[in-house]
Amino acid sequence: MHAAIAPDLILTNGRILTSDADNTEAEAVAVKMGRILAVGSSREIMALRGSATQVLDLRGRTVLPGLTDPHVHLADDGAASLHNIDVRDFNTNVRSIDHILEVVRAQAREVPPGTWIVGTGSPMQDFRMPEKRFPRREELDLVAPDHPVYIGFGAHVTIANSKALELAKVTKETQAPGGGAIELDAITGELTGKLVERAQYLVKSAKPPFTYEEMKEGIVFATKRALRRGVTTIHDVVTNNETIRAYQELAAEGRLPVRVSMMIRIIEAKVTPESMLNLGLKTGFGNDWIRIGGVKMSIDGGITGRVAAFSQPYADDPCRCGLIRIPREELDSTVDAYHRAGNRVCIHAIGDTAMDMALDAVDKALTANPREDHRHRIEHLGNWMITPERLARIRKLDVLPVPNVPFLHYIHDSLMECMGPERLEGAFGVRTMLESGIKLTSGSDGPGYWPADPLRDICTSVSRKIWSGATVGPEEAISVEQALRMFTINAAYNGFDERIKGSIEPGKLADLAVLAENPFTVEAEKIKDIPVDMTIVDGKVAFMHEQAVDLHH
Ligand SMILES: [Zn+2]
Repeated sequence: MHAAIAPDLILTNGRILTSDADNTEAEAVAVKMGRILAVGSSREIMALRGSATQVLDLRGRTVLPGLTDPHVHLADDGAASLHNIDVRDFNTNVRSIDHILEVVRAQAREVPPGTWIVGTGSPMQDFRMPEKRFPRREELDLVAPDHPVYIGFGAHVTIANSKALELAKVTKETQAPGGGAIELDAITGELTGKLVERAQYLVKSAKPPFTYEEMKEGIVFATKRALRRGVTTIHDVVTNNETIRAYQELAAEGRLPVRVSMMIRIIEAKVTPESMLNLGLKTGFGNDWIRIGGVKMSIDGGITGRVAAFSQPYADDPCRCGLIRIPREELDSTVDAYHRAGNRVCIHAIGDTAMDMALDAVDKALTANPREDHRHRIEHLGNWMITPERLARIRKLDVLPVPNVPFLHYIHDSLMECMGPERLEGAFGVRTMLESGIKLTSGSDGPGYWPADPLRDICTSVSRKIWSGATVGPEEAISVEQALRMFTINAAYNGFDERIKGSIEPGKLADLAVLAENPFTVEAEKIKDIPVDMTIVDGKVAFMHEQAVDLHH
């Protein structure tokens, strides 16, 4: 073939799972100028080869369209995932208090005295450690007497050492702020180091915040991690001007390895509710690398903190129903204003009260100004309490629920505790939703508690096997084909990107994930362990696994 039209790159001799309308499987794919040029048999594609074409022999490896994680907090949590020590049992082999202390001790030897050591633990990790408790202040003092140390376990509990408490000016006499608690030992009356809810900020705010550069490096770090799991597009919840600026700079510097659709939070954020309206910016503004994917707002709080807003009290706290952060009038008017201005709204709603408020707000905006193809999203909808009535309403309004399969994988047990089995009947009903015709995807909500890893979520959706080893709701299990589509073509649709992404078809962006094994042939519960050998973004190899030696040249 003539050099000018010959492909830049050919991947041959593989199993190409295209995720096209018929889920066609091919052997080879040709790439030119960052786009897919042709898909077919190895013989057909190799015939296109020119003198300058790079050829990669896949040796039977599986290729998927680049995966999308449609709900992450990557810019906000990236710096912490780079700079903090990681003691999450979800994510590491740390399983006991001794092991946590070992990690802290090692870090204390690494950094000069006086430097803050901040750790990231998992929510409810105390339940899962043999000691059945969190570490204590004195234990942290023993391994890091000269460093201020604190470790956050999920969003609600922080454990600090004496140095950190001292810098935060927290003593046993300190009055905890409203909605918070400073724990004192029942016998000695001394600080245990445990700070709950709003009292956590006493010590968190004593540490100097990440600098702009640290935040920017954190984004690079976290996007590279996502790339290692075949992710080529993220939908990131951004909450401030600095992260939006960092994304633009990284893209201009050629250091942004994945494509970013920004959901810009406009309430309880540094960006004001009017700002995007004032600029006249619509959803879709930007380019193939960074664009505005919508405006984000959170009606209620999180589930593990018992601040998601339910109509009935929490199972383990009969006095609480959660918290509404955006009153109905404000929600309705904000959704209406952004809907009219041509934006897509992404409304966080976890409890049933919040879910119905979100559906009501979209309903009102659409009734006042009908619009085809609005693709308004409700974040976390689809996790639980999808009654036939709600499902019918979702279909009628044509909103996109974005549930979080990792909640099922990691925290199902604690959800049971706080919500009770009745409300979790049929939870994570992925199959029911898909079969009702919803173009369903799932967001990880990572990387704060767990990494962005769609292969793990494909695995959970197919096997219904969770972190603890239990099987939950096997009747909602879906096929590998369906699960792959959730994170490829359906996620692309969710990003208004189905014409350029989400399947391996000529003309689409050449974003591809090369897996060491085929998810159709490995055991369902092992899909999460499949290594990604290579990730290609825009036709270029953006990640190559160290062990994938035979792919190197
Ligand atoms: Zn979130």
